[in-house]
Amino acid sequence: MFKAFLGLTISFIFLTGCQYIENHNLTKEQKIEKPTTHTEDTTQNDQNQNVDQEIKEEEPINSNFLLEEKYFNEVKVSNGQAIIQNPDNILVLVNKEYSLPQDYVPQDLTKPNIPFSFGDLDIPKRYMREEAARAVEEMFQAAKIDGIFLYGVSAFRPYNYQLNLFNNEVNEKGEELAVQAVARPGQSEHQTGLTIDITSESVQYQITQKFGETKEGKWVEENAYKFGFIIRYPKGKEEITKYQYEPWHIRYVGKKVAKIIKEHDLTLEEYFEKVKKI
Ligand SMILES: [Zn+2]
Repeated sequence: MFKAFLGLTISFIFLTGCQYIENHNLTKEQKIEKPTTHTEDTTQNDQNQNVDQEIKEEEPINSNFLLEEKYFNEVKVSNGQAIIQNPDNILVLVNKEYSLPQDYVPQDLTKPNIPFSFGDLDIPKRYMREEAARAVEEMFQAAKIDGIFLYGVSAFRPYNYQLNLFNNEVNEKGEELAVQAVARPGQSEHQTGLTIDITSESVQYQITQKFGETKEGKWVEENAYKFGFIIRYPKGKEEITKYQYEPWHIRYVGKKVAKIIKEHDLTLEEYFEKVKKI
């Protein structure tokens, strides 16, 4: 019993901030300064009870920020670039710091049964990884029930497609502007098959920040997490994500993590800063 309490106390100290450590020190001082009396025991017991209550309240929050090792990027640096070695990880963090291998193509790509802005064309950008495809179907279906009609614009993008997209943008606007709008090849989340750009008729099926102000965009912002998606590049977090606000770009991370990210108003980068490996 005592061992269990001690263990719990130690892990609690480990997991929480200074405030508890101060309380804990107070308990120790009282133990040393005052001889054990009935009153003192009562005080200690009361304090212990408070600690127990605090543990009960703190635990769910802390366990939200514990994550198995397999969900973290495994990285190898090659030519100054951090290349992800476990790109099939559903929580893979792809950004301007971490790149996917040039030859990475997810093996479970499938066509989600949702309408796309480009009609029935069977092209790579119609495809998503199995789990993400089922989730986006679920989301579009739920949206429809709420009178919200969404359309896919672009999901999976192979490395070479991104290479062309990036080169075209550089030719048009110069490299400095291009890197703000278009991911470098290997650094696009679209290569994961876990991402999809979506739109609505109200913005003429375009990819535009105006989508965020439409009822469809607002519905997505409010509800995407219920289906395991996050708005990957939110407004006000440009310095962290290194991308402009993209209300149309949603990324599948699974329901559990999407909920944590939404509730704590995080980006995927911030989530990985907070989370502890177990
Ligand atoms: Zn996108």
